Amino acid sequence: MVVNPQGRPCGCGSRGCWETEIGERALVRAAGYDGIGRSAVLAVVDAAARGDAMAQAALRQVGDWLGFGVANLVNIFNPELVIFGGTLRDVYLSSAAQVRGRLTRMALVAAREHVRLRTPSLGDDAALLGAADLAFEPLLRDPLELAA
Ligand SMILES: [Zn+2]
Repeated sequence: MVVNPQGRPCGCGSRGCWETEIGERALVRAAGYDGIGRSAVLAVVDAAARGDAMAQAALRQVGDWLGFGVANLVNIFNPELVIFGGTLRDVYLSSAAQVRGRLTRMALVAAREHVRLRTPSLGDDAALLGAADLAFEPLLRDPLELAA
């Protein structure tokens, strides 16, 4: 999803894709840090919490683009719930004001009034637990059928 036509080139060949504006690389680069991955994102979040103005500005910028994209998705799909998982959990928790501000300005009133923004309660293992649950679901549904 293109959110910023004047944005950075994306690996897909387009420019200003949501990933290029809210991804780990975008946050770390905007904060003036090196590296990639969760540890790099957490370094920026920690720096912002300690008062690093550049890290704070990077989180505001990425949070703004995060909210921009979420507002568009809310307008299209009218979800009841948006969950920020992975490193977006950390980004959202540090930029919730920007995300909510974009929603307030851009999302349709009827859609934004009932959408809830959350982080996953299962933490970093949510995807693994979900996969395990899917794999075990037939066994749990009918243990005797699979035992035969
Ligand atoms: Zn792209």
